[in-house]
Amino acid sequence: MAPVIGVTATLKKDTDSVAERPLGSFVRADLDYVAGVAQAGGVPMVLPPLPGTAEEVAGRIDGLLLCGGSDLDPGYYGEEPIPELGVTLPERDHFEMALVEQALERGIPVFGICRGLQVLNVALGGTLYQDLPSQLGGGSIAHRQQMPKWQWTHEVEVDDGSSIAEIMETGGLRVNSYHHQAVKNLAGGLVVSARASDGVVEAVEARNLSERWLVGVQWHAEAMRDAGSPEHRNLFEAHVEAAERYALRRAAA
Ligand code: MN
Repeated sequence: MAPVIGVTATLKKDTDSVAERPLGSFVRADLDYVAGVAQAGGVPMVLPPLPGTAEEVAGRIDGLLLCGGSDLDPGYYGEEPIPELGVTLPERDHFEMALVEQALERGIPVFGICRGLQVLNVALGGTLYQDLPSQLGGGSIAHRQQMPKWQWTHEVEVDDGSSIAEIMETGGLRVNSYHHQAVKNLAGGLVVSARASDGVVEAVEARNLSERWLVGVQWHAEAMRDAGSPEHRNLFEAHVEAAERYALRRAAA
């Protein structure tokens, strides 16, 4: 049976564009993530950030995909917000932190993209740069591209011995870049598997994926997988395969 992959969603306030009438809040998931899961053979299940639901949800998913989006409240890593911090969404932060905690406890395979990598790092005890340009200064390359999401903007060097190198079958990549935050202190349970030329962490993974399947990438792999860069699909496939193994273990327990 195909594994169920929980895909995190955001809340968006919408207005009637003609009358500017407020229409209410909507649960929104970017189709690229959902399609990426389905293309890899998983059953995507979009997860609205509702309070008090993380435990029940975690009991029904075989894999967790943490998607991109707004900045994480720096309070989760013990910092006050700096002026350059972007918009934060308390409902989403709260739900995702609770859900990741559940996933880690149960051994659910977690794949984090952009904000998702950052949430994973913070949930495991790491910290973030709240804003790269102001905190890393002139040494940083452009990580917030103006071009479309399927277009690459900078290169990353992948650690030869890493699982991500094995999954993507490459030691170097060209990636898109839509972030102004990044990993500062790496969480104890993770290792860095790729960096940009300015040293910014672009991918992380658990030490041993067969024991604990945790992978995070700072680029938007979901937007590049159909744009002549099929290696990004491998990440979704590896995640779905890990979720299949988790589902089997869970059924046997
Ligand atoms: Mn980048």
